[in-house]
Amino acid sequence: MERVHNFNAGPAALPESVIQQAKEELLNFQQTGMSIMEMSHRSKEYDLIHNETKQLLLELLSIPNDYEILFLQGGASQQFALIPMNFLSSNQKAYYVMTGSWSEKALKEAKKIGQAVEFLSSKEDLYRYIPTIEDKKVKQLEDAAYLHLTSNNTIYGTQWNQFPNYKVPLFADMSSDIMSREIKIEQFDFIYAGAQKNLGPAGVTVVIMKKSLIEQCNRSIPAIFQYKTHANKNSLYNTPPTFSIYMLSLVLEWIKQNGGIQQVETINNQKAKLLYDTIDNSQGFYTAHALKDSRSKMNVTFTLKDEHLTNLFLKEAKEHQFIGLNGHRSIGGCRASIYNAVSLNSVQQLSQFMHNFQKRYE
Ligand SMILES: *Cc1c(COP(=O)(O)O)cnc(C)c1O
Repeated sequence: MERVHNFNAGPAALPESVIQQAKEELLNFQQTGMSIMEMSHRSKEYDLIHNETKQLLLELLSIPNDYEILFLQGGASQQFALIPMNFLSSNQKAYYVMTGSWSEKALKEAKKIGQAVEFLSSKEDLYRYIPTIEDKKVKQLEDAAYLHLTSNNTIYGTQWNQFPNYKVPLFADMSSDIMSREIKIEQFDFIYAGAQKNLGPAGVTVVIMKKSLIEQCNRSIPAIFQYKTHANKNSLYNTPPTFSIYMLSLVLEWIKQNGGIQQVETINNQKAKLLYDTIDNSQGFYTAHALKDSRSKMNVTFTLKDEHLTNLFLKEAKEHQFIGLNGHRSIGGCRASIYNAVSLNSVQQLSQFMHNFQKRYE
């Protein structure tokens, strides 16, 4: 069987060459006579992979020296809890920009720990846009432990183009757009991303944090929950998800071989443009969920005239090997997730299919 056109939202498509390489090395990793999965996380073979993965992240994202990279478990959802547990002290507030379901979940967890409040929100308009930060609100941030945002909203299909720049620590959930475009790491104090959208398989969460934050961690919570514990031990305090980190290293190698983030971003822009043009030129047959200047280049969300037509679209798409196009169960409609590993060819074929479908049913 051929591999399908995979538009899954997460876990999502991986580069075929990466899966091939993992397959070739699965039984006997570099003449060790065993799989990487069967090896000690203290072995010299694994240690090399662990540190190479960090090195590749440093290089590809141009991460400055005063940042620490951590490999953690528990997904981005665990970060929703760990961040306030570590950084939200009782005399401070944490501010959350609400741009979708993931921001809601992050805020909900933070509220259990301390004073966490909504800063801005586009909920009243079904999260169709990224709210802009009005000047009058800036004053409110004076007592902020941090300001939290979700750089790409996987479910609603919106994305920040420009990040706010205040004198408060900026924390970002980049689970669904890390490594998809060039960003200035210096703008952020803390970045986290579950791997299963754009980085690799599920199981590892990448954290990129300012080293100066390490000393600010709350030391009264259990050691396993403290960032300092993991930072001090190079993310080897306990057994890390070795196979997921190995897969991450292969994906990063793949990005490097393909010209780095700049080149990946160029292709991502082409892919997104193709789908949004298809939607915009459809005379209303397809309608985009997100407002134009907030549109995500990773998750393209759209609807058709009614539920019947939407279901027919999804059914026929599936028959043509376009997989994962149904919208999130919370908002319905359609969503094409076009992460780094989704090829331009797959997107071209989807665009063609959308044209044909429109011709037959408009
Ligand atoms: C998928 C996703 C999450 C949840 O990730 P888990 O690893 O399942 O906890 C959080 N935030 C964003 C933006 C996501 O896309």
